[in-house]
Amino acid sequence: MAAVAFIGLGNMGGPMAANLVKAGHKVTAFDLVAASRDQAKSDGAAIADSGASAVKGADVVITMLPAGKHVLGVWNEVLPAMSKGTLIIDCSTIDVESAKQAHALAAKHGMASVDAPVSGGTGGAKGATLTFMCGGEAKAFAAAQPVLANMGKKIVHCGGGGAGQAAKICNNMILGISMIAVGEAFVLAEKLGLSHQALFDVASTSSGQCWSLTTYCPVPGPVPTSPANNDYKPGFASNLMVKDLTLAQDAANAAGAVTPLGKHAQELYKTFDASGHGGVDFSGIIQHVRGLAGK
Ligand code: NAD
Repeated sequence: MAAVAFIGLGNMGGPMAANLVKAGHKVTAFDLVAASRDQAKSDGAAIADSGASAVKGADVVITMLPAGKHVLGVWNEVLPAMSKGTLIIDCSTIDVESAKQAHALAAKHGMASVDAPVSGGTGGAKGATLTFMCGGEAKAFAAAQPVLANMGKKIVHCGGGGAGQAAKICNNMILGISMIAVGEAFVLAEKLGLSHQALFDVASTSSGQCWSLTTYCPVPGPVPTSPANNDYKPGFASNLMVKDLTLAQDAANAAGAVTPLGKHAQELYKTFDASGHGGVDFSGIIQHVRGLAGK
């Protein structure tokens, strides 16, 4: 078992750190927020008074933070305090460019590094069923794998530094677009007098089949576990979808890729968010689509 430093104990990082404790690792944790530190303490982690003191003596350092600027800030702070050769893993969802900068920073300090963003949300973080999409050298990935396995069930090596973030934003661009497509189909069905269940029964076994329909159906009824049956409580909040679609657009612009549907999906989610629905599950976008009629 390893000595693990865990920095960023929010909705995702808190339960992920708790799962590492459960797996028998010696976890030392830090977050800026006192309530998150208290929760980690009651979950069995030792609490440090800064990021730099958390990483002292650690075999593995994990960060789970809001955005690229936080990751670069924390990595700049902790890397000089780490022993040479220590592995540092960032599980946050951040822009590809910052992820590459973080890898370069780690290499400069003689550390192995992996970008390992996740999918699976807070339920996956609690249940240790996350999917990790990893970028970094093969040796660093091999060292990260056993620790990530205590927090998730699927771990994919996507390529060199930044490839995990690239996979994450490409996947979530598909998700954002496909949820709007499924929502539009249900709204059209309503206008045509076709029942939700009838459309579901056909499309879920036809060429319209996709995760947004069969696992996360945006209308109540056909998939009882989807947020549509629970007043669109997240789940995965629309403001996080705006974040990921914006990262995808930034990456597309930087790389010279043209992604018109990704761009339009970002605009629709931004409008939904700006109208006070940022905390609503992203499948709630169907309400926005429905409201477009007559505008
Ligand atoms: P969160 O806001 O709940 O947690 C982030 C934590 O980082 C906070 O507790 C904050 O206090 C802490 N923090 C910020 N700066 C810090 C610093 N300098 N030192 C120590 N702690 C610091 O966010 P979250 O929902 O846990 O998400 C974390 C990351 O995971 C984000 O990048 C997000 O996009 C990604 N993600 C979230 C979900 C989800 O469903 N919530 C799903 C997949 C990926």
